Amino acid sequence: MAVPNDAQYPPELSPEEEQYLLTNVKDWSIAHGLAVRPAPTFVSQERDPSGVLATTAPVTLFPSIFPRSCFEQGLAIQKAYNELYSAIARDEEWIKGIVEELAPIDDFVEKLWNVHLEVKKEGYVQDLSLGLFRSDYMVHANTDSDKTSLGIRQVEFNTIASSFGGLSSKVSSMHRHLLAINAYPSSSSSIITENALRQSKATSSLAKGLAAAHSAYGPSRNKHPLCVLFVVQDPERNVFDQRHLEYAVLEESGVRSFRLPFHRILSDSKVDSDRNLLYTPPSLPSMTFEVTTIYFRAGYSPDDHPRPEDWDARRHLERSRAIKCPSILTQLAGCKKVQQVLATPHSPHLKRFLLDESVASHVLETFAPIYSLDESKAGREAQKLARHPDSAARYVLKPQREGGGNNIYRKAIPDFLEKTPQKNWPAYILMEMIEPPPLRNAILRNGEVQKGGVIGELGVYGVCLWRNGSGETSKGEILENWEAGYLLRTKGDQSEEGGVAAGFGAVDSCCLV
Ligand code: ADP
Ligand code: MG
Ligand code: MG
Repeated sequence: MAVPNDAQYPPELSPEEEQYLLTNVKDWSIAHGLAVRPAPTFVSQERDPSGVLATTAPVTLFPSIFPRSCFEQGLAIQKAYNELYSAIARDEEWIKGIVEELAPIDDFVEKLWNVHLEVKKEGYVQDLSLGLFRSDYMVHANTDSDKTSLGIRQVEFNTIASSFGGLSSKVSSMHRHLLAINAYPSSSSSIITENALRQSKATSSLAKGLAAAHSAYGPSRNKHPLCVLFVVQDPERNVFDQRHLEYAVLEESGVRSFRLPFHRILSDSKVDSDRNLLYTPPSLPSMTFEVTTIYFRAGYSPDDHPRPEDWDARRHLERSRAIKCPSILTQLAGCKKVQQVLATPHSPHLKRFLLDESVASHVLETFAPIYSLDESKAGREAQKLARHPDSAARYVLKPQREGGGNNIYRKAIPDFLEKTPQKNWPAYILMEMIEPPPLRNAILRNGEVQKGGVIGELGVYGVCLWRNGSGETSKGEILENWEAGYLLRTKGDQSEEGGVAAGFGAVDSCCLV
């Protein structure tokens, strides 16, 4: 991934050039909604009691260098990943096998599974499921014999609340704009070219996925107006990312959507005797909408379920006739344990879901080594690696959680395991750290510029709409499947975590080399 001609990247800027670049980044960001609500540590609630302020989203000043072949590999493989995860979500028996290992030691997984079992007992009334997925990768140098080649390795696969589609489209537009207004100096003109920059189409492409589910739902039997429901956290700092999808689904497909905070599900919606999900917006008390599609941007964390009735709320939505994005089974398919089981060498699992061998082998190429910490032979070997600081330094330990900030890295692993009862170790997976080639960039966060070594993580979005089928007799079918644009997130190389919302990374776009 060397920068051509040994040029320095990102290029050095004179104070005047840096001022010009920064002014344009700040203004373009706010003018186009490349923005977030400020963190309370940045702007206190007392200073903004009515919540009117927004600030620029953390962004890189320059598009980061990314190998073209790796970028193309990630985009090309997304449809296969959509197929894989929709097949897993349709295979309740197989998921049950995973859940049986986790449920006794992972309360959150157990509660999700119980909601599924209760709804199954009553009988599901919606056969369609929607996935708005994101598969995340880092660049990895493969050294086969004496040859080194670059490829991508998967960090994780997200099946719920895959975020930053909205902002990713904006940041790639901004980097293009900066090129167009000569904010990048001529010393970088051979690297940052129109041809090298990649526009992300995620906003429009994900919105089309919501619209496809909305239309597949069919008409209301009771002549209610139809809508899509975004189930969200409250407060939500990353609200504009979500708003971009909401605006696109209305502007491009004429589909109305509403935002419903997770804690208001039971007070603001009801399930009628035909299990239609009816929503009365508090602002429009005389109107009742029938919900075609529930898009979860919340519900992936125990923090979203502080009260027992929050689990009633999840069951209420799951049993409704609305199409879920995702269903509980689809959410469970995104467990990190699933990724580990698929990545087990010589395992039969990948073949079970991807019948075409060449497709399966391309997917396999993107897996990093991942181990369980159970009592199997391989599990005991992994335990040994994880318990010693020297060997643990090459690994990350992950629980079955989403949203960032949950992992244990490298030398911290042995102490963490020491404090965790051994019977709970199989609730975690042990994954080899991917070590991408070093890069440099500058990040603007909360008004401050930080320059230095960075690590990039490519996320590729996927849309998949499928019919679940009736188990024994029908395995269901895929109705829609497409790759839906990309996200590049970049973090300082001193930080192990990469989450933008969690305060570690910045949104970025690719400058292909
Ligand atoms: P989450 O679902 O919470 O986002 P991830 O598996 O994506 O969990 O881990 C969070 C972050 O940790 C990633 O964005 C990445 O920066 C870092 N990370 C996770 N796994 C690896 C890995 N195998 N190699 C290098 N970094 C990793
Ligand atoms: Mg992640
Ligand atoms: Mg995740």
